[in-house]
Amino acid sequence: MGFNNSIVRYFDDVLDWTPVRKSLLVLIILTVILVHYWLFQVYQTYFPSKYINYDILMTLQWGLPFLIFLTSVLIYVGKQVKDKEWAQQLFACISTFYYAISLVILGYTIGLSNITTGLVMAGAPLFGFVLFQRHIVYAAFGTAAVLIIALSALSAYGHIPYGPLFKPEFFYEFKARPFYLLCMIYFALPHFITIFGFCDLFFIRWRQRERNIHHISITDSLTNLYNRRAITNCLEASLEQNADLAFPVSVVLLDVDLFKRINDAHGHAIGDKALQVVAATLQSTLRKADQVGRYGGEEFLIVLSQTELEQAVIIAERCRVAISNAYVSDEHDQRLQVTASFGVSCSEQCGYQLDKIVRQADKYLYEAKHQGRNQVVSILNTIRT
Ligand code: GH3
Ligand code: MG
Ligand code: MG
Repeated sequence: MGFNNSIVRYFDDVLDWTPVRKSLLVLIILTVILVHYWLFQVYQTYFPSKYINYDILMTLQWGLPFLIFLTSVLIYVGKQVKDKEWAQQLFACISTFYYAISLVILGYTIGLSNITTGLVMAGAPLFGFVLFQRHIVYAAFGTAAVLIIALSALSAYGHIPYGPLFKPEFFYEFKARPFYLLCMIYFALPHFITIFGFCDLFFIRWRQRERNIHHISITDSLTNLYNRRAITNCLEASLEQNADLAFPVSVVLLDVDLFKRINDAHGHAIGDKALQVVAATLQSTLRKADQVGRYGGEEFLIVLSQTELEQAVIIAERCRVAISNAYVSDEHDQRLQVTASFGVSCSEQCGYQLDKIVRQADKYLYEAKHQGRNQVVSILNTIRT
């Protein structure tokens, strides 16, 4: 679990890596695949199966180490140019082509019509598209596809051997099936692990991004409360749900008193701090099920689902007291008191129409301001302490 998590964390920002760094990752994966194939050849050199074409195995014995060496050189070059602007797309292009063509060559030696080719053809472009620019992937994938078709056609018409690393009977003899199956599993395994693992990582990251974007889209960045759109949606949903059941929904609209004066006397930064204090006070005073958002500049809206007007007035009053007891430190570290005025409305009096219920709360808020601020007003008259 810990190991898994640290892998996920390492690749957390893989989508934001530079093209060269992404290419280096692809080349390292390719090196692992090449070493995996090479181990098969080494094993067959010492313990050859009767289906192995030993002459070809000997001819190719330096092929794979050479490819591994070439890949290492490319990795070295990538490391040297990883911070160079001009190298980014060029290196990504070279690496993707190199990756595609190396895999076609490997595929050809073991035969192209098998599960490994299918896996790579379906999987590699998938994570290519996530990592690189589309046109690079199209070009590399297109070239690989043309090569595969050409090689398959040439072997189908007998111009070149099919899967030259193996004797022909490997592909058709019934007795060769278990060995064939083992080989296919062996060759497909590294592709399966990398494609499956990276798809999983990408989707973990994608879901995280989705969550972050969703959070940003509903959050007010200054106060961390719901923004206007989100709190309006909350109210809309609450009204819709509770209208059918005839449960009451109350709305509290509050506005910080004489806020302009705080800004004018102490500056915008202290004004912002005051808004954060009001937001934090509201959050800590309200119940878990209550929803609160920043409705405008220094205006906040609270949605109290399944709450009657009397109860809503008590909650608003509790918030009013909490805000007047809170303070923000000004530029001289002096405590600055803040108050707010509250208007409360409820579906019991004005129905389940969003506009109407907010307008009513706004009307009572205006009355609270008019009557001297720092108070809660609703249809039940004014409650003062
Ligand atoms: P009242 O008691 O009648 O509501 O008086 P007020 O001064 O609070 O009302 P007014 O509408 O005259 O002023 C609101 C001020 O809130 C004006 C605006 O600059 C300020 N304001 C709005 N949004 C922000 C903000 O995000 N940060 C800060 N610092 N000030 C803000
Ligand atoms: Mg105000
Ligand atoms: Mg205002």
